[in-house]
Amino acid sequence: MLSGFNYAAPRTRGELLDLLAAEGQGAKLLAGGTDLLVNMRSGAVKPRLVIDVKRVEGFSGIEWSAKDGLVMKASTTINDLLRDREVRERFPLLAACAHDLASYQVRNRATVVGNVVNASPCSDMAPALLCLGARARISSKTGTREVPFKEFFTGVKRTVLKADELLELIIVPAEEGGARGSYRKLKRINGHDLGIVGVAMMKKGGLMRIAVSSAAPTPVLVDGLNETSTPEAAVAAVRKAISPISDLRCSKEYREHMVEVFVRRLLEELK
Ligand SMILES: Cc1cc2nc3c(=O)[nH]c(=O)nc-3n(C[C@H](O)[C@H](O)[C@H](O)COP(=O)(O)OP(=O)(O)OC[C@H]3O[C@@H](n4cnc5c(N)ncnc54)[C@H](O)[C@@H]3O)c2cc1C
Repeated sequence: MLSGFNYAAPRTRGELLDLLAAEGQGAKLLAGGTDLLVNMRSGAVKPRLVIDVKRVEGFSGIEWSAKDGLVMKASTTINDLLRDREVRERFPLLAACAHDLASYQVRNRATVVGNVVNASPCSDMAPALLCLGARARISSKTGTREVPFKEFFTGVKRTVLKADELLELIIVPAEEGGARGSYRKLKRINGHDLGIVGVAMMKKGGLMRIAVSSAAPTPVLVDGLNETSTPEAAVAAVRKAISPISDLRCSKEYREHMVEVFVRRLLEELK
């Protein structure tokens, strides 16, 4: 059952940051609500104030420029991303991960920002953002900072964000445009489902990055590989980086095995 809460729908960035500064721990930002409302209904989260980001001027859409790269805003939905031509042409890995997230209906509401702030180990967007060297622009009433996604996740459902901070933009550097990439996600069913494991791979200019979801407390980036790395070296680096557990969805051993299978398949696919 939902506990009582107040609701605010600010129209400007300034109003939103004022509200966040005044309420601190008592406030929760609402984007698509596909995580927040589930958590509020279960009683896991009981905000005094829910602040809707969707009506803030300038908070929706995607922008691309050769100078700033790809910029996704606080209300950019997963389907906005999939509809964007620059994303499909320049960042196929982002589109591949977005396409595997939930169902069309959920993707119409769910935002990229909400997905990473929720910080589930099985986030589908995190592997692409990690592989592509993306950064989070974080704002509060007192200023703005940028954090690379490889430093953003601090634990299961935990991030570097403080109570009065907003994740305002996600920025993918322009130089990652044109990178080849693909994503493999293991699910219990053929339809939409949370991942049992997910592996993303990106290759560009001799460099290779791999990121894995659902195999550690946070999504994991495996750096330091290159296009000439052997499958054995890639598998060994990935195994070293992950720390899967057994849970009701599958065993630790099955997760380890499937991560290796996916790494080998992705290496073949992106040869
Ligand atoms: C049926 C179903 C299936 C799903 N399947 C998948 C799946 O396959 N893969 C997957 O990865 N996820 C899945 N999800 C989870 C969810 O859809 C995603 O995590 C989604 O992207 C969250 O975005 P949202 O806009 O709905 O976030 P919200 O629920 O609005 O917010 C999520 C969290 O982020 C905070 N927040 C929102 N905006 C900001 C901001 N600008 N700054 C700081 N904090 C902010 C909120 O306070 C909240 O804590 C599924 C959910 C459902 C209900």
